[in-house]
Amino acid sequence: MKLLEVCCGNLESVHAAVRGGAQRIELCRALELDGLTPSWEDLKEARRLYPGLVIHVLIRPRGGDFCYSAGEVRQMAQEIETALSLGADGIVIGCLTPEGNVDLPAMRELMAVARNVTFHRAFDVCAWPFQALEEIIGLGCRRILTSGQAPSVAQGTDLIRELRNRAGGRILLLPGCGVTPANARYVLELSGCTEIHASATMGGSSTSAGCVAAILQAINPSTMYQYTPVENRANCYILSLDNRVSIVEALTAFCLEKDIPSGEISGLGAVSCATFRFLDPVTLKYVDRTFEEQMEITNLTGNISRKDGKPYLHLHITASREDYTCIGGHLLDARINGACELFIKAFPGTHVGRRQDPETGINLYDFA
Ligand code: FE
Repeated sequence: MKLLEVCCGNLESVHAAVRGGAQRIELCRALELDGLTPSWEDLKEARRLYPGLVIHVLIRPRGGDFCYSAGEVRQMAQEIETALSLGADGIVIGCLTPEGNVDLPAMRELMAVARNVTFHRAFDVCAWPFQALEEIIGLGCRRILTSGQAPSVAQGTDLIRELRNRAGGRILLLPGCGVTPANARYVLELSGCTEIHASATMGGSSTSAGCVAAILQAINPSTMYQYTPVENRANCYILSLDNRVSIVEALTAFCLEKDIPSGEISGLGAVSCATFRFLDPVTLKYVDRTFEEQMEITNLTGNISRKDGKPYLHLHITASREDYTCIGGHLLDARINGACELFIKAFPGTHVGRRQDPETGINLYDFA
């Protein structure tokens, strides 16, 4: 099982990370400064609301470099004690000298009060990474968060793999920086690591539950669904989608498994994130909007056809919000959070294609 650590810059992001299925977070604030020590109110509230969540706390008193004065190191030691007293499960720190070495005296002072320490991305500006690796191991740190000294981790996997080989199990390498659902699996495979770090913001400023779930699904791929054929009704199936999967990915996989050329879908469930699509008939432009919130699918209805030889799902949804109002529309995709129960009727032997109509911009049925 691969582990995802979600970097959360505020309490909203913690809620989204938990909704998306995160088991560990790094709590901080001011992500625009690459993270500072979080507000104690956020830490207290996260601890109170999520007793089972593993919370690592960043201790960084200011932005800029990682060369701290004696006074700053004393302040950091006090912040570590406060964070631990408020229920932090681990501490994230990193101190360097102006020459780009690990600041051993400062780190020793902090290690004396810290627990379960991750050395953060200060490592990525170390002048001699292999020497720094040995020093960080010698200090007793548990992990190094690193992009492999590259601008984004996808370019740094070679160095991370080399560090991991040299460490030989004495410390965990935690790849991070620029991790997306599309590259997370590749980063873990190329670096050989078992944990990964991401802010999962999908381009925005706050963590997206859908993005967290998508990264988890990418690093721990599951079968995505269970199903049973319906007795005495040929080509009908009852489907249960796995938690946190994408509805479209899971349904597409099922259509491929059963080789369904056309059919109909209905169902209900619960989602943490859904993207709706609206076609503006004047501009013929698609307008997509993502709702990052817990919703009940009050109705999901759709059909299956083929386009360019692949399953093509046309789905419409109404979803109920926390205040019991509903939103609805054409569903581009959604992430399950809870359950999703579907009924599928397949029409084997009936080929229904799709072609894009230039006048309306719609992918119309094509029975040719
Ligand atoms: Fe539609």
